[in-house]
Order: sequence, then structure tokens, then C-alpha cells
Amino acid sequence: MNDATARMRLESILAELDRSIRVLQGGPPGERDRSAADAGSDLTDADRNRAVLDVAVQHRRSVVEALKRLDDGRYGLCVDCGRPVPEGRLEARPEASRCVECQSRRERRR
Ligand SMILES: [Zn+2]
Repeated sequence: MNDATARMRLESILAELDRSIRVLQGGPPGERDRSAADAGSDLTDADRNRAVLDVAVQHRRSVVEALKRLDDGRYGLCVDCGRPVPEGRLEARPEASRCVECQSRRERRR
């Protein structure tokens, strides 16, 4: 994947995320009263909404960082070991910042 393609894909992901974040920040449509949630049910709509929003915001951050790496000419290189991130991985996740090994090492550490 060349830089122009990567940029195009990242920008479309970014636009998509911006759209969902805007919707999510608007809150769930017709927010229901919270008393239903207090009656022992697990998550309120607002909580669920916040969880989705957190994921979207984090995802957005990684996309913005990938665009920055494109600008710096470091796109496609693992931020930990500096080796190229495999093409197939970038196809699946253009915002990926680490190779598979570094990513799994990082996830294990958590
Ligand atoms: Zn690596």
C-alpha cells in the first residue's frame, strides 16, 4: 500500500469516526429515565454509549497518529522496533502502529 492510498484510507476512517463521535456525544436518542437502570440491570444506555465513545476516541487518536507518521515518512514502520509493519496488517488496520510481535508483547504486558 503506498502512502497516497494509506492517507486516503486513514482520512476516510477519520471522517467516519468523527461522524460517530459526534453522534455519540449527542447522547443516546431519547435518553430513557435512569430509574430503569437502577433496578439491577447492568449498563445504562449512557454507560454503554460512553464505552463506545471511548473506543471511538482512542481509535481516532491512533488514526491521527498514523497520519502524523505519514507526514514524517515513518508510516508503516513499527513504533517500537522500527521494522516494517507487514502489508497485510496495514491493509486490515491502516492505523496499526506496531508489528504483530510488538503489539502482542504490549497487550500481554497490560
Ligand atoms: Zn515491532
